Amino acid sequence: MTEVLTQLFIGGAWTDAADGATMPVDDPATGEILCHVADAGPKDARLAEEAAVQAQQDWARTAPRARSEILRRAHELILERTDELAHLMTSEMGKPLAEARGEVAYAAEFFRWFSEEAVRIDGGCGTLPDGRNRMLLTRRPVGPCLLVTPWNFPLAMGTRKIGPAIAAGCTMILKPAPQTPLSSLALAGILKEAGLPDGVLNVVTTSRAGEVCEPLLRGGRIRKLSFTGSTGVGRLLLAQCADAVVRTSMELGGNAPFIVFDDADLDVAVDAAMVAKMRNMGEACTAANRFFVHRAVAEEFGRRLAERMGALVVGPGTRDGVDVGPLIDRTGRGKVEELVADAVERGAQVLVGGRTPEGPGCFYPPTVLTDVSPESRLMGTEIFGPVAAILTFDDEDEVLRRANDTPWGLVGYVFTQGLDRGLRVSEGLEVGMVGLNTGLVSNPAAPFGGVKQSGLGREGGRVGIDEFLEYQYVAVPVR
Ligand code: NAP
Repeated sequence: MTEVLTQLFIGGAWTDAADGATMPVDDPATGEILCHVADAGPKDARLAEEAAVQAQQDWARTAPRARSEILRRAHELILERTDELAHLMTSEMGKPLAEARGEVAYAAEFFRWFSEEAVRIDGGCGTLPDGRNRMLLTRRPVGPCLLVTPWNFPLAMGTRKIGPAIAAGCTMILKPAPQTPLSSLALAGILKEAGLPDGVLNVVTTSRAGEVCEPLLRGGRIRKLSFTGSTGVGRLLLAQCADAVVRTSMELGGNAPFIVFDDADLDVAVDAAMVAKMRNMGEACTAANRFFVHRAVAEEFGRRLAERMGALVVGPGTRDGVDVGPLIDRTGRGKVEELVADAVERGAQVLVGGRTPEGPGCFYPPTVLTDVSPESRLMGTEIFGPVAAILTFDDEDEVLRRANDTPWGLVGYVFTQGLDRGLRVSEGLEVGMVGLNTGLVSNPAAPFGGVKQSGLGREGGRVGIDEFLEYQYVAVPVR
């Protein structure tokens, strides 16, 4: 394993925090400290901003092919180092190694995808309606960006933003979550090796997110915020962006409905439920949060899901054969425990799981609850853990109304063998993405994002790069 990078990455150089501060990174499987990383403060944020601003003009002028090739090289380097990156991710975040390897591939794919998009940034020209004036349209990078990412997909949430920013010609400051800084620092090392010019990407790891980010957003030099995280923090940052009219992309929380009709193929629905619920131990914005199952098949679906969930092996993500790693920290686990206790108090039956194991680490068992009351707190909260909460329904209109009865609208899952019904219900869901007879929607080639309080804008797909580009229109009279 190559050296674990623990310093700030500013202007192409590795550096300690200006005030020398460091912060611990914990292993959620043991609760032990893995290492310490630099803990940036406002002075470091100013240095990173200066580096990004200074690099912007030259970077914007770089040939799209050159930007594309850096991304392509970085894609290859990430894949070559899959094992190393997966171990790093598992150590700081907890997910089993097999899932971590899957995330490495997913993360790398954003670089390949945007290496292909970098050379396809279009423009246009045309004649205006008066017949005399011509218009010339070009697309230009928005300028220096602040990228703020969460801990749940430490590598992919970074590449999903860095890929299009590089492709578009933007410079950036990345602020990863304090629980998982190591993957982001490793990524910066790879991009440097791939030939990214100094100052284009700067990484500030910090436990002082507000002190670091607010001056950047209010200062007028950062032109764009791309944020992935909770709706509460997203709302706060939107308000901070208002002062300097900073452009925003917001990938926020979800409360995904998972709807199983009585004509669904239950083998397909249960397989998909295992993915939609258990990917990343349930710590995903796309995680199925509310299972609405038609009354006629609810008992069988619950029994089959409980069997599969009960057979999963829980343990440290580095151990062979483990399916479910620890949750991110004690706070995250405490929230899951409280939500389950509240549901049980309101009458839910525990088919499997539901008890926190003794011992070190932040483990929580795969859990299936049935007869969940609609008043339970977990109906209106992201569970962010391995807990499936099942409710029953009787007809299509009712389930659509209940599924949409939430301020969030990221993703929904629909299971039916009827094409008409599948499309009708998909179109009726107030969400940005639908899994129709599948439990996985994430794909770098598809536009990822939500409606309502799940966010603004899209990441990935053909439109992902648009978030980092502005139009410029030049009027040319022809006399
Ligand atoms: P979070 O608490 O909102 O934090 C996300 C990031 O924002 C972290 O880096 C955090 O750093 C930072 N942050 C918090 N307060 C800040 C402030 N005042 N100024 C600047 N940055 C600030 O979310 P999380 O717990 O890490 O991640 C889970 C959430 O992310 C869930 O709601 C999940 O649904 C959502 N998510 C959404 C998507 C999507 O694509 N829609 C994808 C993944 C996750 P600190 O921890 O230091 O505060």
